[in-house]
Amino acid sequence: MENSVNSAPPIKPNDFQRLWSETGPAVLDAVQALGQSGWYILGPEVSAFEADLAAFWQRSHCVGVANGLDAIAIGLKSMGLKRGDKVLVPPVSAFATVLAVIQLGGVPVFVDCDAYGLIDLDQAEAALAADSSLRYMVPVHLYGHCLDMHRLAALRDRYGVRILEDCAQSIEASFEGIPCGSAGECLATSFYPTKNLGAFGDAGALLTNDSSLDTHARSLRDYGQSAKYRHEFIGYNSRLDELHAAILRRVLLPRLRDWTASRRRIASAYLDGIANPRVCPLGQPQGSLSCWHLFPVTVPQPQKASFLQHLKNHSVGAGEHYPGTLMDQPAMREVQHIQIGDLARSRQLCLTEVSLPIHPYLSEDEVGRVIAAVNSWT
Ligand SMILES: *Cc1c(COP(=O)(O)O)cnc(C)c1O
Repeated sequence: MENSVNSAPPIKPNDFQRLWSETGPAVLDAVQALGQSGWYILGPEVSAFEADLAAFWQRSHCVGVANGLDAIAIGLKSMGLKRGDKVLVPPVSAFATVLAVIQLGGVPVFVDCDAYGLIDLDQAEAALAADSSLRYMVPVHLYGHCLDMHRLAALRDRYGVRILEDCAQSIEASFEGIPCGSAGECLATSFYPTKNLGAFGDAGALLTNDSSLDTHARSLRDYGQSAKYRHEFIGYNSRLDELHAAILRRVLLPRLRDWTASRRRIASAYLDGIANPRVCPLGQPQGSLSCWHLFPVTVPQPQKASFLQHLKNHSVGAGEHYPGTLMDQPAMREVQHIQIGDLARSRQLCLTEVSLPIHPYLSEDEVGRVIAAVNSWT
């Protein structure tokens, strides 16, 4: 039994105090400039941020929206998703992935995950080959790993499936040099504070090379207006605030490359340093240059609670991504959905997965403490 409570300062899964001490003065400058401008909704800051993010992600268009969930829903609605349409989705993700589908009346179709927790593209292909009414797919580049972009593009071309890529965890991830988000008609991302590019509040974006999709999404985020007081579609209020856009563009986006580099260094240190045979880092899929949104490991099934307690005793703030699959959430009882196969691998992953801290403000010393804590678990 272990009950030695370590008095070392806690290592947090995310350290927003450190983020603020580095960025606070620049954020306050941005707030000051925005406040003085007198323009708070859909103005020059949103446009400038959209242009910068589109260039950063090598997409032609970017539409700032209120959050990542809305980015997915608005994207799918712009792509023509209608009530009753089936949508291939992974079993392990944030609930928002499937919630966006459900909000539009779509029917989620689950196939199992692969060894890294991402949607299994062999099973996805089998499902598409078996059911020609499966017309949409929302793959998720989970944990910051990039799915095989060649295969995604091949599925799109072979089966005509319409793809929206959920890139909420994968900004800057690529597969053999191809950025995530480039196989689908559009990609959705989130700037929820814990994400790799996290705002000081809720925000999200939809990116695409398709100008008609861009136009449709712009309308949908603003009550479905096509011109002032002309409501062409049943839309949303899902505008990105000027304030968030100003902070994202002036302060946060310019730091993202360095933050991603830090995450990659920490991931390498964990992969090199973790030597406990009962703790298996899921690692990075072949071909993926990951942005390491999370650092998932697995432990033998009945021992997850003991491992979490051990980390807690060593002041290491760990997480679980995710403690349950999407299809097993209680809310799914209320909605039609389809499960293909037994989905055993994804359920097993949820029973065994623990996420180690990997934010860019971790010090080398803290990374060493995390590794030591993991290796000392018996
Ligand atoms: C965070 C997240 C979302 C939802 O983003 P919000 O901004 O919280 O609505 C969707 N998908 C994935 C994979 C996420 O991690």
